[in-house]
Amino acid sequence: MRKTARRSASRSAPPRRGASAVATDATNRSIGLDDRLYSYLCETTLREPELMVRLRAETSRLPRGTMQISPEQGQLMGLLVRLMGARRALEIGTFTGYSALAVALALPADGKLTCCDVSEEWTQMAQRYWRAAGVAERIDLRIGPAAETLAALRAAGEDGRFDFAFIDADKESYDFYYEQCLKLVRPGGLIAIDNALWHGWVADPAYRDADTAAIRALNRKIRADVRVDMVLVPIGDGLLLAP
Ligand code: CA
Repeated sequence: MRKTARRSASRSAPPRRGASAVATDATNRSIGLDDRLYSYLCETTLREPELMVRLRAETSRLPRGTMQISPEQGQLMGLLVRLMGARRALEIGTFTGYSALAVALALPADGKLTCCDVSEEWTQMAQRYWRAAGVAERIDLRIGPAAETLAALRAAGEDGRFDFAFIDADKESYDFYYEQCLKLVRPGGLIAIDNALWHGWVADPAYRDADTAAIRALNRKIRADVRVDMVLVPIGDGLLLAP
């Protein structure tokens, strides 16, 4: 069976290394955010609902609270979902539900978000906030290894049925999740991958651990992947968008 190209065949392959040497020039780079500028951005531009403020605060008190996405990233994801007119979304790695809430609020009332996570404890907090926000009915939470949930979705004929997917789970499986999302997300849909800058460790050769290596490898792979477009948005911990 012929593979269906996700994007127009007229798009050319990415340039080779060297063509982007100018990218390391300091003059036109993305602006860095010190505390003052980040506070300005948050105070001036966030439209974070009160419920999401509370969820973020409650999550930040957990031992692994830093795993949740930043509020401006949630706002961007909601914007993208609305912009696309997405009706069906997939999330791999839900944690306490902040990103899912941002996406679910951006879906139409009859939209659906399928969430994968392994933790009952974390997702109980998530469900509490989803109910309070009135979006619990839009969210189909699947507890268990994401690989199994994704396999079940594919077996149920869900390939090509999703508009948007957000990957934010165990980093060593990122490549696998990406490949599964390429099947499950329709051509013209969007895959968003979190932690693409991984605390900056991707650029630090001192970090040779499996998670960092996996993220580096996937960033490099997607740049050369003619099935998708890409941009790595330096928001939060780095959000790689692959439409
Ligand atoms: Ca993350």
